[in-house]
Amino acid sequence: MRIERAEFVQSASRVEQSPAQDLPEIAFLGPSNVGKSSLINSLLGRKGLARVSKTPGRTQLLNFFRINEKIWFVDLPGYGFAKVPKKVQGTFLKMVEDYLARSERLALLLLLLDCRRDPSVRDVELQAWLVENDVPHVVVLTKADKLSRSALAKRKREVEKLLQLDTLGAQALPYSSTTGIGRKELWGVIQDALSGGD
Ligand code: GDP
Repeated sequence: MRIERAEFVQSASRVEQSPAQDLPEIAFLGPSNVGKSSLINSLLGRKGLARVSKTPGRTQLLNFFRINEKIWFVDLPGYGFAKVPKKVQGTFLKMVEDYLARSERLALLLLLLDCRRDPSVRDVELQAWLVENDVPHVVVLTKADKLSRSALAKRKREVEKLLQLDTLGAQALPYSSTTGIGRKELWGVIQDALSGGD
């Protein structure tokens, strides 16, 4: 997709505060530091755009970016940051769950996992919840440039097995914001979802 326009529009602390404009949504979810902002910027070819979601006070919000006047990119709060008290983490998850349960405009959710790390219990639970609730999603393995080709292939198989993607006929998609590995493939998956394909 050619990106003609990409703009931060608003933050919301609850799904009811989402922008009124009815456009399909692509949502981004992952543990803190997984490379979510970098991936959004790299997909859009914009360097500083997703930084807005790191602005103090906005990290725990849903941040809405409008792409080409046609799609919402929704940057969901990062989860599982060790320094955040359990209670606040609970609030994050509640908000994300609310969003996922209620957003009728969601075309696809990208669940981001660092390719170098074993998925945490929380990652596994979250993904199981996505499956149970029929949330259309794809698992993306970030920072793919950090592993050799063979280590990456091995990790991809492990994650697919652990998350039972293989039984769902799904795959994990390696991505690197640094080298652009996986960018074309990920846009393909996004466009399929937008056009109602799988
Ligand atoms: P976020 O907290 O999930 O939004 O993560 P960031 O996008 O801020 O990235 C966290 C750290 O990982 C930063 O130091 C990035 O430079 C680094 N990073 C993000 N994506 C990549 C990638 O694809 N390759 C490499 N090597 N580093 C990355």
